[in-house]
Amino acid sequence: MSHTPITVAYGDGIGPEIMRASLFILREAGAALDLEEIEIGEKVYLRGNSAGIEDSVWDSILRTGVLFKAPLTTPLGGGFKSVNVTLRKTLGLYANVRPASSYHPFVKTNHPDMDMVIVRENEEDLYAGIEHRQTHEVYQCLKLITRPGTERLVRYAFEYTRLNNRRRVTVFTKENIMKFTDGLFHKIFDEVAREYPDLETEHMIIDIGAARVADTPEIFDVIVMPNLYGDIVSDIAAQLTGSVGLAGSANVGTSAAMFEAIHGSAPTIAGQGIANPSGLLLAGVMLLLHIGQREVAETVHNAWLRTIEEGIHTADIFREGVSREQVGTQAFAEAVVARLGQQPASLRPVSYAQGTSMPKPRPAALEKPAIKQTVGVDVFCTGQTPTANPTCWASA
Ligand code: NAD
Repeated sequence: MSHTPITVAYGDGIGPEIMRASLFILREAGAALDLEEIEIGEKVYLRGNSAGIEDSVWDSILRTGVLFKAPLTTPLGGGFKSVNVTLRKTLGLYANVRPASSYHPFVKTNHPDMDMVIVRENEEDLYAGIEHRQTHEVYQCLKLITRPGTERLVRYAFEYTRLNNRRRVTVFTKENIMKFTDGLFHKIFDEVAREYPDLETEHMIIDIGAARVADTPEIFDVIVMPNLYGDIVSDIAAQLTGSVGLAGSANVGTSAAMFEAIHGSAPTIAGQGIANPSGLLLAGVMLLLHIGQREVAETVHNAWLRTIEEGIHTADIFREGVSREQVGTQAFAEAVVARLGQQPASLRPVSYAQGTSMPKPRPAALEKPAIKQTVGVDVFCTGQTPTANPTCWASA
């Protein structure tokens, strides 16, 4: 098998430990990867770079088009930009795919039948980063929802559903209040849904949808939603499975993709060798699927399931009476390696060898530009005191 070049960032906090453990498993399973290492995150911030990412590293990421990234620490206090948000926007990683499954009865959870995938829009919405101070007392953040951005995201969610033999796609919006922005998201969902008559669809208002995710997550299959809702709901879903340490995620765009654990750098347990590498490892499985190394992906995932069901657990999921042995990060990785080639006996084995389960991202269909005509302008002005120079809206 020819080797695929990928860019690797070891990250901060527990990042280097879980990345070393994950790469050890992938290598032992026979993944054909050429690793290019880059440094981003805390050390770069502390060198005085407020973006946390130096110009020189873009070269590698743009050349390989695949970034395997451990969690990064964003220093507290003003002035530091999130590297994660910069990466998603610069690379156009428009879809964030986050599976959340229970591993009952081997990992304690109140939701034994949960098996959902959240597909979150990753660039637009309130994360477009357009904020203004309008007056001394009024601050504004713009919520952007675009037709092309929503269309390619929603289509990716439908393609993912079909390729993975799933049945239903649910969309969450708050269109009863945000009729233009969330209304457009739902409208485009309905338009794209017509191209997938084999799949069931439904819509829920985000508040009741989130409540159902927290209460009866097993009723969901694939859920697609705008950025902010997806950020919040996908963390809730991951926590419901038993630990945030179990979930991986893929951020995909037409020219690059990034794979990471959903959790952060967990600074309080960093350096102790106790962190769970599973989230990053499962992101690595999605990476292998993305680059077409399906058999290795299947081998790794099944060996991991076998390790989990044999009760070999890191501290975050270890429970007396359920788990058999508490292990550290590296010992967990060695246990997975020892089971390469084995299938789980109780948990459902995965089967990736045929076909692919990560769809190819596609650009949105281009619409003809609308014919525009200037009919007026809106002017917003504000003064120091209401009496001397009142705030006003003017339209012309
Ligand atoms: P966190 O996810 O790092 O930790 C939350 C809790 O989960 C902690 O108790 C932690 O010990 C535990 N935990 C997380 N991952 C674990 C694992 N693999 N094994 C065992 N336990 C694990 O969230 P936080 O404390 O809010 O954030 C810490 C730092 O991470 C912050 O600087 C934040 O900005 C950053 N962060 C980065 C990313 C990313 O790089 N994608 C995501 C979220 C947070």
